[in-house]
Amino acid sequence: MGAVQGLRCRECAREYPAEPLHVCEFCFAPLEVVYDYDEIARTISRERIESGPRSIWRYADLLPGGEKRVDLGAGLTPLVPAPRLGAALGLRDLWIKNDTSNPTHSFKDRVVSVALTMAREFGFGVVACASTGNLANAVAAHAAVAGLEAYIFIPADLERGKIVATAIYGPKLVAVRGTYDDVNRLCSEIAGRFDWAFVNVNIRPYYAEGSKTLAFEVVEQMGWRVPDHVIVPVASGSLLTKIRRGLDELARVGLIEGHSTRVSGAQATGCSPVATAFKAGLEHVRPVKPDTIAKSLAIGNPADGYYAIKTVRQTGGAVEDVTDEEIVEGIELLARTEGIFAETAGGVVIATLRKLATLGVVRPDERAVAFVTGDGLKTVEAVAGRAVPAFEIPPRLEEFEARLTDRETTA
Ligand SMILES: *Cc1c(COP(=O)(O)O)cnc(C)c1O
Ligand SMILES: [Zn+2]
Repeated sequence: MGAVQGLRCRECAREYPAEPLHVCEFCFAPLEVVYDYDEIARTISRERIESGPRSIWRYADLLPGGEKRVDLGAGLTPLVPAPRLGAALGLRDLWIKNDTSNPTHSFKDRVVSVALTMAREFGFGVVACASTGNLANAVAAHAAVAGLEAYIFIPADLERGKIVATAIYGPKLVAVRGTYDDVNRLCSEIAGRFDWAFVNVNIRPYYAEGSKTLAFEVVEQMGWRVPDHVIVPVASGSLLTKIRRGLDELARVGLIEGHSTRVSGAQATGCSPVATAFKAGLEHVRPVKPDTIAKSLAIGNPADGYYAIKTVRQTGGAVEDVTDEEIVEGIELLARTEGIFAETAGGVVIATLRKLATLGVVRPDERAVAFVTGDGLKTVEAVAGRAVPAFEIPPRLEEFEARLTDRETTA
């Protein structure tokens, strides 16, 4: 299992063996994977990583899982400069980490590749998850290639694209009439009854480690330099906390000297428990009932909300939220300036970035990276009413010219 030493409670620091466990028996706090960093530091190097596989597994030294990986090639997605979007927002050194180009078109392929690798290592025959959509896509695809049986639980009102892009891989797809939080509660009960690998329950500590690879890649792709500020979408809050941890680990094993990267979070106003708590100066999150088009971020009771707020405060970032209208504008702005079509979560990030730039939280000369974590083709209904042909004509030149004149005179 590489340099994994075991699991450790995030609150009382009690240690556990590397098994399918996720909460501390004593204080019920979440468990986290522990590594022998001194051991890793002895062998890891920039060159070793750069000559590794073109996937998240080039960072295998800092991930759980051995050689028998469940791997569809997640990771090593483009990090692109965003000068036109930057100009629109008054930011001079803006970058987009474009995670739409993962195998199932969202960042969830990273976490699932790690989770299913561990599920197989633990000897599970069945994998399962509760999902707002992207996780369902990723688990279904990775279970297919691993030859594992999969039970996937989703809210029945999920976007069509996400249902189709899950069912096609042949899992047992269960639509639950309720919110994601209802689905999640049901899954906790099912997890107590069946000996399955629930990627976001008993396998969660390993699953969450996959998110660190976004931080690793950004640093490697910037020539082993760290960004000044990162803007991260927040659902459970796990991704945000793990990006910070990824940067910490690079410093800990000597691949970078250190970092003072500010971490900011982005939520939809219709499901903004973390932003609300942050802005009220609170440590703990009060659960909400989600009502937003950003369904992939619609977790009303975020498991890592407390840690996400802590990370943001410690690094000098902020958490903001944006309305559904602003989310759609964010999707359009990114598409029209940088040629990237993001799903609603990407709209949340871009609209929040715009807000943070206006507020002066993201400063004009900071090297900022916005994480675009899912593909727009997954949530076409969010923009379908606005993204329409300029006009429709019969196939005749004079019709085209007539409409062109119309347009020019009315413009
Ligand atoms: C799951 C998800 C996230 C972040 O999830 P966390 O639960 O906060 O780790 C971000 N973007 C997209 C598109 C997602 O599907
Ligand atoms: Zn504990």
